[in-house]
Amino acid sequence: YKLSNLKEYIKFIRKKPDEIDILLQDLFINVTSFFRDRSSFDYLEKNIFPKLVKDKSPTNPLRIWVCACATGEEAYSIAISVVEFLGDNQSNITVQIFATDISELSIIKARNGEYGASELHNLEPAQIQRFFSKVDGSYRINKSIRDMCIFAPHNVFADPPYSRIDLISCCNLLIYLDNVLQNKILSIFHYSLIESGYLVLGRSETISSSPLFTHVNSNHKIYLKKKNTSAKATLYRHLSFPIHNNSQNQAAPNSVIAFDELNKVFDSFLLSSFVPACVVINQQSDILQFRGETSFFLRPSQGKASLNILKMIHPDLTFDLRTAILKSIKSKQAFTQKGIEMKKGNTVYLITIQVVPLKGHFDEPFFAVMFTEDPAAENLPITKTGKKANDAKDQKIKKLEELLASSKSDMQLIFEVQKSANEELQSANEEVVSSNEELQSINEELETSKEEIESINEELLTTNQELQTRNEQLSESYGYIDAVLSTIHEPFIVLDKNIRVRSANRAFYKKFQTSEKHIEGMYFFDISDQQWNLASLRELLLDIIPTNSFLNNFEVSGMFPGSGQRKFLLNAHRINQKNFREHLIFLAFEDITEREIQIQKQTDISFKKIADSAPVMLWVTNANGMITFLNRAWIDFTGLNINEDKKRTERIHTEDISLFLTTYNSAVQLRKEYTVEFRLSNQQGQYHWMSERAIPKFSVDGNFEGFIGSCVDINDMKEHEQRKEDFIRMASHELKTPITTIRGYVELMLDVEDSENLFVKSSLKTVHKQIEKLSKLIGDLLDMTKIETSAFHLNNEFFDMDAHIKDVVEETKQLYSEHAIIFQHEDKCTVYADKDRITQVIINLLTNAAKYSPGKKEIIVAVKCDEEKVTVSVKDFGIGISKIDQARIFERFYRSHEKYEKTFPGFGIGLFIASEIIKLHSGKIWVESEKNKGSVFYFELPLRKN
Ligand code: ADP
Repeated sequence: YKLSNLKEYIKFIRKKPDEIDILLQDLFINVTSFFRDRSSFDYLEKNIFPKLVKDKSPTNPLRIWVCACATGEEAYSIAISVVEFLGDNQSNITVQIFATDISELSIIKARNGEYGASELHNLEPAQIQRFFSKVDGSYRINKSIRDMCIFAPHNVFADPPYSRIDLISCCNLLIYLDNVLQNKILSIFHYSLIESGYLVLGRSETISSSPLFTHVNSNHKIYLKKKNTSAKATLYRHLSFPIHNNSQNQAAPNSVIAFDELNKVFDSFLLSSFVPACVVINQQSDILQFRGETSFFLRPSQGKASLNILKMIHPDLTFDLRTAILKSIKSKQAFTQKGIEMKKGNTVYLITIQVVPLKGHFDEPFFAVMFTEDPAAENLPITKTGKKANDAKDQKIKKLEELLASSKSDMQLIFEVQKSANEELQSANEEVVSSNEELQSINEELETSKEEIESINEELLTTNQELQTRNEQLSESYGYIDAVLSTIHEPFIVLDKNIRVRSANRAFYKKFQTSEKHIEGMYFFDISDQQWNLASLRELLLDIIPTNSFLNNFEVSGMFPGSGQRKFLLNAHRINQKNFREHLIFLAFEDITEREIQIQKQTDISFKKIADSAPVMLWVTNANGMITFLNRAWIDFTGLNINEDKKRTERIHTEDISLFLTTYNSAVQLRKEYTVEFRLSNQQGQYHWMSERAIPKFSVDGNFEGFIGSCVDINDMKEHEQRKEDFIRMASHELKTPITTIRGYVELMLDVEDSENLFVKSSLKTVHKQIEKLSKLIGDLLDMTKIETSAFHLNNEFFDMDAHIKDVVEETKQLYSEHAIIFQHEDKCTVYADKDRITQVIINLLTNAAKYSPGKKEIIVAVKCDEEKVTVSVKDFGIGISKIDQARIFERFYRSHEKYEKTFPGFGIGLFIASEIIKLHSGKIWVESEKNKGSVFYFELPLRKN
């Protein structure tokens, strides 16, 4: 404010009272954080909470007061700590945490319960995840914890305290207070706590030898309330809240202060004159103070102890003293009575009594009573009554004296009577006093109850304030939600448990051209001309409330009034309602029609781009077989455009056209994919081999929409293949003649060779065996080329399959000398087949069975037949075939890629030829196998009836 000194600032404050609040806020010390002293919390969880919750129940809550809670971290930490401590037991115990602070600004922040990430550094990640939720970059305390805490602005010295509290946490407030205030606050806490309640202070705070609290753990500064009723009595004197500072209380004399002042005044009075035997009495003549040597005049009276001066005074002085006191009281002046005779032993003393009202600010008058001895009368001998005196004067004096004596004794008598009356009055008075005391104690009890009521009242006020804040927050949230919902463009609807419409938003009414009165209370599946009445949707929606499931992007498309053909994504989830109110369903509709069209356009463009850049020729037809798309490669090759569809077939080689048409037509009919090879002529009239593959297209509802086809130019591949096959055929042919010649000669030599030359004989046998293998291989290669060129023909005849196989097994047994071949057969079955080719198949299977089961003994060959077919199987117990290989072993040149199997010699054409032979017989060949357990190869031939 550009003020140079304090005085100016004071002036400024006087002019601008708001500044006081700003200054006050500056003075508050808001240093706090979550779990400031983690070990203290551990101690509380381990040692204090178990004791506190022992007798708690939902109706008897655990009550905690966090005094000076600043921005709420301490209160939330305690709440978290209690929740963690309670664990599963949480539902059995209600927890109320009253968190108060003098600063209203701090309380606002605490109530909000929102903290930045840096403020949470003391919390463990798991605690953050469990007790906070992320909101716009900061973290908000979860509702379960927030609900336990009641925040209120509260001045601990001015507002009534809370009562019946189990635990008070007041960290780092005491250090800012002086001794008097510390004692006062401790009295307040003592009052608030239940018997055996605990007080937790900050690390650097201590209570040394307090009558109110004992140490529980000095390291963690935890204290236990002392069960001390006298302390409680003193406490009430400490408690003084504006609410009960009534006029009566203010007027009540503080007796301690009054007596102090009396002492001072009295002493100064004595000092200013002399210190004779004197006392201070009140208006009732009760002695309050003694000074000097009073025993000469006063002694304790008999009977009930009393400090009444008239009871204690020497009887000779009673009358005059009473008169003096009365006079002084009346006149409010000092009164002196001189020359009063006091008989003590044989001596009569002359005594002066002086009663002086004491001046001072007392609530009742006090008097100093002084006794002095007249020195002239000292040792005055007692007058002898038997003395002879004749003198009339003396006689008169004597008479007068006697009269005086008799009146004195009368007086004495009256005095005695008055005294006894007084005593009766006294006892009556005492009764009154005792009743008064009773009343007093009742009053005190009432006072206590009143204070408790005030505390409860304060608590109610706090709770009320809290509720008010919550209410405001709630209506704010409602407003917020209303604003959000009304601005949402997507339609939504709320359904009850019977799937009837509760409400919908503006966007819904607009989109589906309906209104509140048309749909409210209606069955959802009946609205919009039953557009939503789909079995699958019904099933899912009906499931949401009972199983708390979701509806996730459920697609619905159809014709909608006013908006035409549209597609929606439906999302729904359950709205949970508490307090036995029935659950609802929130159902949102996302119109994705435009987006889909856009995506479709994009996809079409991308597809066209990709298709045009592909080297493969691509085409697309519709359900009527009309071409709807041809890619660049197709147009470039044929020179035909999309409108010259008919000319497409004309470009196919005449030799291939019939195969193409049959394949294509049957694929269209069956709506199945197909692959076909044919020759197609290009713009220049040159034919190229093409491999065409086409797959059918279907709409979402399963309608056939034509084919997507691709044509790959395989001309080069075909030529290579042809050359390779020509070579193999030629090589096989060329090899066959020399091999046959060598074989003839070796057989001849075996026949003519002298049987004694064993080496030559065995060598010849080996050569013969190898030549056998070689010629089988060449035979296989020739067969393969025959199959390729379709020059493979069958010479069918009728024969008995079982007998034939038995013969083959018998004949070839010595070839598989390491194995025992078991032959199993049932009935005789005659087939019409090429006997040699079937032999070739069975030998192939037997050779494989022996080759791929080294070290295993058995091979089982079985023949089974029924009315329709004959099935031959060859079973081994060898290395087996993996699932992947099983699918491919009947392909040409296919050999297993597994390492172990590569060690077995072979070309991978045996099974190919076998399968081709069986196919030519309109039969079937297959394998069943398990790795490392063995394989069974089957082939099946149809039986010819008749
Ligand atoms: P090959 O001359 O390589 O044996 P085949 O066409 O007869 O050629 O067999 C093809 C492949 O099938 C073989 O390489 C082998 O991996 C597998 N195979 C055939 N018969 C058996 C069998 N009985 N047990 C295990 N694997 C076999």
